[in-house]
Amino acid sequence: MLLEREREELAAAGRRLAASGLVIGTSGNLSVRVDDLVAVTPTGGVISELTAEMMTVLDLEGGIVEGELAPTSEVPMHLAVYRATGTGAITHTHAVTSTALACTLDEIPVVHYAMLSLGGTVRVAPYATYGTDELAAHVVAALDGRQAALLRNHGSLAIGGTVEKAVANLELTEWVAELYTRCLALGSPHLLDEKAQEAVILQALAGDYGTTRKL
Ligand code: 13P
Ligand code: ZN
Repeated sequence: MLLEREREELAAAGRRLAASGLVIGTSGNLSVRVDDLVAVTPTGGVISELTAEMMTVLDLEGGIVEGELAPTSEVPMHLAVYRATGTGAITHTHAVTSTALACTLDEIPVVHYAMLSLGGTVRVAPYATYGTDELAAHVVAALDGRQAALLRNHGSLAIGGTVEKAVANLELTEWVAELYTRCLALGSPHLLDEKAQEAVILQALAGDYGTTRKL
């Protein structure tokens, strides 16, 4: 089986995203790229129940290389994101708070320094029908310089060098969406200005933020 380990990683990612409440039923799709091959989840698959055998392997033009099930309807979006960003994995779901903000706002401003690991503000891509090249183009534009984007009236999407990282970035996006929603309920949140953002980036670079290290 081609990309066996990566297909297992997609199945595990589906279980994890479902367990953390970021996906229900068939709403979403996942992919991973190795060189010029991409493994994707099948269209209509229950994300928490997918197995490695159910993934489909494509080439970068969308041609079927291996698999038994029709690939996700969002193949145009996944391939466009790989072409534009060179990333290693993509996660897309309809996580509820991210989707609520995507129905309401144009972007999530920088309310918390953790957002800087996603590249700063999280933009909302304009609405287009699922599965279309138009949606793919909107998402690519919204992702410019970012690890995540929201899709208007649709959901959220994150990228990462590995499946694990793309899952973590989607979880972080949902956390940020939840945080900002609570901030708006309380009033007008303070935002981090350019200077504060730059200081965080310098601090994180100096100290390997988010990783354990020996004394
Ligand atoms: P698929 O089942 O075709 O992957 O579609 C789900 C989805 O989220 C479309 O955006
Ligand atoms: Zn979707």
